[in-house]
Amino acid sequence: MAEGRGSYAKAVRASKSSKESFLEQRFNTLVDLAHDAFLETDAEGLVTEWNSRAEEMFGWSRDEVIGRSIATFLIPERYAERFTEQLRAAHSLGSAAAGRTPERELKVMHRDGHEMEVAGAAYAVGTNGSFRIGGFLRDLSEQRAGEEALANAYLHDSLTGLPNRTMFTYRLAYVLSAYQAVPGMVAIAVLDLDRFKEINDGMGHEAGDEVLVTVASRLAEVGSEAEVMARLGGDEFLVLFEGRGAEDKAVAFAERVVEVLSVPVTVGDSEVFLGASIGIASSTGTVTEATTLLSNADAAMYQAKRNGGNCHQVFGEAMRVQVLDRMTTEHSLHRALERCELRVFYQPVVDISGDKAIGVEALIRWQHPEQGLVPPDRFIPVAEESGLIVPIGAWVLQEACHQLKLWQAKRFGRDGGAMEVNLSARQIDHPEIVGTVERILADTGLAPSNLTLEITETALMNDAESALSVLQALKELGVMLAIDDFGTGYSSLSYLQRFPLDILKVDKSFVDGLGSGEGSEIVAAVINLAHSLGLQVIAEGVETEAQWEELRKLHCDFAQGYLFSRPVPATELVEKFPLRLGA
Ligand code: C2E
Ligand code: MG
Ligand code: MG
Repeated sequence: MAEGRGSYAKAVRASKSSKESFLEQRFNTLVDLAHDAFLETDAEGLVTEWNSRAEEMFGWSRDEVIGRSIATFLIPERYAERFTEQLRAAHSLGSAAAGRTPERELKVMHRDGHEMEVAGAAYAVGTNGSFRIGGFLRDLSEQRAGEEALANAYLHDSLTGLPNRTMFTYRLAYVLSAYQAVPGMVAIAVLDLDRFKEINDGMGHEAGDEVLVTVASRLAEVGSEAEVMARLGGDEFLVLFEGRGAEDKAVAFAERVVEVLSVPVTVGDSEVFLGASIGIASSTGTVTEATTLLSNADAAMYQAKRNGGNCHQVFGEAMRVQVLDRMTTEHSLHRALERCELRVFYQPVVDISGDKAIGVEALIRWQHPEQGLVPPDRFIPVAEESGLIVPIGAWVLQEACHQLKLWQAKRFGRDGGAMEVNLSARQIDHPEIVGTVERILADTGLAPSNLTLEITETALMNDAESALSVLQALKELGVMLAIDDFGTGYSSLSYLQRFPLDILKVDKSFVDGLGSGEGSEIVAAVINLAHSLGLQVIAEGVETEAQWEELRKLHCDFAQGYLFSRPVPATELVEKFPLRLGA
């Protein structure tokens, strides 16, 4: 029996141990199949389990680490002490420590010495000699690399590798708050390339990109004192300077930028000449907001552009007053439309005889309640910048078309005459422009051929490619098109030929010299050019008989100027001027 019992016990033991090894086998296989590293230690931190993924991940083989203290090779030295303490604490809690910890991220060391980030939850089981603590660990390096790439893409411009607007604004807000109490410690420079659009449109986007990369590297060369240099997209760059003399650093930077950009950039077989307009603004006692600083620098940059470009402008007291003035004008201009303070004056365009008007030009005025009659130069630029020119321009168009229709119907009984209305670049860019003109013609019943739309040479050439398609669409409505202020911009002759124009208006500055033996060659050349392109010519700003005499000799077709009439209200025009529309 005893023997029998003994053999039974043996048999039971044998079957138990074979069961254990079977369990262990399954356990080991499972653990080795795992995608994550698995490790386990006893209460002393001596390794008891180490799967093949752990071998791969940390560079140590199972045989090398079993029985070794984890704190001596896996845990970075600076965490080793804390780790051992935590282990001890878990052990002393005994079964109370049993269970799972939430997932945690920790830093461990690879065999080759580099630190890696891993994540995992730990379990603790058993007490005393059989105490084990372990868990699966996931390698976070790939995830981290992905996150970093994403953050980089999010905070950097992909073309130049420079920080982008988000990163710049973040950094700017940070330094502004750090230096809040000390004015003048933060300065920014906004840089916009001059005529970059021409390069982009003329040579293609790839060439444009190449230019931008070259510019970025030249900026980096001269901007070593900058805290951050960013690209805002397009051809705009932002540079941040901080510390004592921040504004001086920005000014020195701007001066050097103009210098380094004067060296032409080679793109393919051609060389392009670049310039930049740079606006600088710095923090003051009152300006401590990133948005204010940015808009001040922008205002200074636009001033630099107005000054002809390729220069810098510092935002100062005078500009602050100007900006305020603009804001006030914009504010009251909003109400001017609603309160019917805008007027349209008309100036006749005369034929060769000088006493017959073939048409009139509509010129806007603002009957300001306090300032009296305000000329367009004082408010059109504000209207353009704010976008108000779109509704104002539509109003002028409606008013002018309606007026000609009235003249045609009531006084003259004919359907002739031309109403010339100015369109600004902002209106041409507006997606609704063709629809607006079409609607107003339909509303007023004016025949399209009676309407001439004037666009300045500068506005046309600024974005010639898109202007071309708008002009073509307008032309299809049947209206006439005129290029205004000719000679004040830089015309590309090939565009001049491609635009569907009918009339060329020679700028007053060329007419001024006529009659005194000055500049008649230029006017003669312009008139010949226009005629050879099939355009009729109107001379603007004719003030003297001598000028008119000379223009007639040069075969100019029509003229406009104080010599014939100033722009006047509609009623005055028909009283004072023998208007014979289309007669
Ligand atoms: P513009 O289209 O070139 O108009 C001609 C300007 O020259 C007018 O100035 C006119 O009054 C002025 N002028 C005409 N003859 C003479 C002359 O013999 N001597 C002198 N010294 N000046 C003469 P104004 O009315 O002040 O308009 C200035 C500019 O404002 C216009 O130049 C035009 O570009 C813009 N503008 C006027 N009305 C509108 C409008 O309704 N919409 C848009 N977008 N722009 C307008
Ligand atoms: Mg005009
Ligand atoms: Mg003009």
